Amino acid sequence: MSVLDLARPEIRALQPYSSARMEASGGQLLLNANESAWEPTGDGGTGCNRYPEPQPAAMVDALTRLYGVRREQLLVSRGSDEAIDLLVRAFCRAGRDAVLIQPPTFGMYAVCARIQDAGVIEAPLRRDFTLDVDATLAAVTGAVKLVFVCTPNNPAGSVVPHADIERLVQALAGHALLVVDEAYVEFADEGSVADLLDRYDNLAVLRTLSKAWALAGARVGCLLAHPDVVALLRRIIPPYPLPLPSVNAALLALSGWGQANARAHIDIVRAERIRMRTALARLPGVRAVLPSQANFLTVRFDDAGAVYRQLFDAGIVVRDVRRYPGLDDALRITVGTPAENEQVLATLAYPATARGAASLKSPAMDGRGFAEGSAT
Ligand SMILES: *Cc1c(COP(=O)(O)O)cnc(C)c1O
Repeated sequence: MSVLDLARPEIRALQPYSSARMEASGGQLLLNANESAWEPTGDGGTGCNRYPEPQPAAMVDALTRLYGVRREQLLVSRGSDEAIDLLVRAFCRAGRDAVLIQPPTFGMYAVCARIQDAGVIEAPLRRDFTLDVDATLAAVTGAVKLVFVCTPNNPAGSVVPHADIERLVQALAGHALLVVDEAYVEFADEGSVADLLDRYDNLAVLRTLSKAWALAGARVGCLLAHPDVVALLRRIIPPYPLPLPSVNAALLALSGWGQANARAHIDIVRAERIRMRTALARLPGVRAVLPSQANFLTVRFDDAGAVYRQLFDAGIVVRDVRRYPGLDDALRITVGTPAENEQVLATLAYPATARGAASLKSPAMDGRGFAEGSAT
């Protein structure tokens, strides 16, 4: 059996759109794509009068070296969010198939599934936010085509040991594709599971330049998977997903200089994560600071709502994660620069009553804050 047997038959049969850039590139005089012959006005637009390469070769090369995979195992997308959406659309038939998730977890898996009218089956993490392999496998029905595992987990910060990932992918062979979301793996002690890709065709790994690589605004993510899965998703990804300025930003970030910078910042985040965890745990009103392998700390408070407002009134916005199961007293705080982290600690250490009359300004609970899909 091939992993493609799990995919939607109509996607496998689809005749993909053939863009001008795919049909012919490398000529001297490009008159095949109805582009403007003139460069756009202004800095930073150089080359933007032309459509970009569908999968920019220089960027693909840099990413394959970074992630230790072959070119045919990699698809670059607009953030890993787009890769999640493509997977759901390629594998889940509307009204029939389903994805399996382990709450609390990243919201986009369920949102993409619902947009596609696929089912969402939940096998919650344990109370300590570790993944229960047996419970996850027990929840797999015939409808489940994709099993999403987020490690390090957002919002809990916990990791899934590689041995558990391997157990899952083996047990799911022939039934479902295991999608391991490694958005935060650069901050973790244990590395990527991408080395398992050569052994299992039903494994996919999501990576992103949005977190450790400081490029959230450029929207660059990657799917690493079996060449058949990558080829399938290439059929449905929009023709020119990667804007030229984003490609150029990614190439700079992946240069030797860029990599040295990223590594230095990862080291700072990891050191600050330890320092902040200890300091936060000592503050009054803090019930617990969850151990985290990511670039954030999820903190339980006696009154998380009041702490959210206290920080907000001081101009500090953190993530209210109280809507997630098992986290109804928690806020998620991104690790910033040492100075930013100090500001958080100083604000929390300063008793709220000493701050004068309670502010009437309420924090940004404008509805969006509680939407499941709010992406990060
Ligand atoms: C931030 C995040 C992503 C998304 O990233 P983009 O590449 O920016 O789309 C994916 N998964 C998880 C768990 C995240 O926290």
